Amino acid sequence: MTVATTTETVPGTVLAAQDVNVTNAPKPDAGNDLNNNSHGKDMGDSKELTSKDLDDYLHHYNKWQQSRFGRALQQWIADHLGLKFDAEIKWKNVLMIGGLHLTTVIMFFKYVWYSTLTTWLWGFFVGGCAGFGVTAGAHRLWTHRAYKAKLPLRIILMCCYCLSGQNSLFDWVRDHRIHHKYSETDADPHNSNRGFFYAHVGWLLIRKHPECIKKGRLIDMSDVLADPVIQFHQRYFMALKILFTFLVPSMVPWLFLGEPLYLSFLANCLLRYVLTLNFTWLVNSAAHIYGNKPYDSRIRPAENRAVSIVSMGEGWHNYHHVFPWDYKAAEMGHYSVNVTTFWLDVFAKIGWAYDLKEPSKELVRRTLEKYGDGTHITAPIGHLKEVPEQETTKSR
Ligand SMILES: [Zn+2]
Ligand SMILES: [Zn+2]
Repeated sequence: MTVATTTETVPGTVLAAQDVNVTNAPKPDAGNDLNNNSHGKDMGDSKELTSKDLDDYLHHYNKWQQSRFGRALQQWIADHLGLKFDAEIKWKNVLMIGGLHLTTVIMFFKYVWYSTLTTWLWGFFVGGCAGFGVTAGAHRLWTHRAYKAKLPLRIILMCCYCLSGQNSLFDWVRDHRIHHKYSETDADPHNSNRGFFYAHVGWLLIRKHPECIKKGRLIDMSDVLADPVIQFHQRYFMALKILFTFLVPSMVPWLFLGEPLYLSFLANCLLRYVLTLNFTWLVNSAAHIYGNKPYDSRIRPAENRAVSIVSMGEGWHNYHHVFPWDYKAAEMGHYSVNVTTFWLDVFAKIGWAYDLKEPSKELVRRTLEKYGDGTHITAPIGHLKEVPEQETTKSR
């Protein structure tokens, strides 16, 4: 029996072998590393980072992310508009993300109504594949190691992830591991204590907190870097992003569905892309602010059904922060609000996904009884207990 060592498991909860179920496991010892975090190795501060390393990194970071013009503009905004920011603004990202959203809103009302139904359905399909790549690939497989995947599935997941047009898989996994380890602190890349907007997209628009950069360098990423699929993705990141995020989604309706190219581009490269991004971001913002906390009332992540629907099952966030190594990312595997789990179960049936981890019912029960806010579906209905004795007597 081993005491769980990271913040990813409920503090004080002792995790024993019988607390973890591993399904579709070809080897009898498949659960050996289950207590050792979600990705096999301790991602704690195992390496020494000198202040010179950090200074070098920040200097390098500034050189690439900031321009003299950008800093002057930020100063002008502070002097003339009174708007001061906690950190330097990444103007390149402001222009790209802001421009993308603005163009989408304008073009949506101007053109997208003329798109054919088949293009909409294609956009829905591409959006679903992109979501699967993010949730089943970047999140549950590569970040949390909640299951194992054979090479064909890892390739599918990588291609699907590229449809989402997000950061490189390496950056995604590193940021998410920091997020879990240092939730709601300065080291958390999208610390929700800094408000909804910051947690949603603001964190991509300004320079990271130095604490986040420092901790990011300490996260063990050796397991991710050892995967040839990730190595391939890292090497051809930009080419893959252009191909899968923009070219394939917009060319298919044009070439095969008779859709004008400009409408296909607007529907898939703007609207579909912007929606996919925001659905992912909602997990960091809304699911860290709104909802109940049946598993651990002491943390900020909450259960949010609406976010779960749009993010294919990632909104059960109170549970997920308590049991990040559960391949379902939720206690119940209801497919209607967890589409990703449905597809993982399908891939498990054909053997491409295996060693699917989930906590035992007993461990979940112990946890929610100890730390939950009493809103779990199995909790007794509270108000019945609170009927005053007098009132009960009167009605007799
Ligand atoms: Zn979170
Ligand atoms: Zn996670």
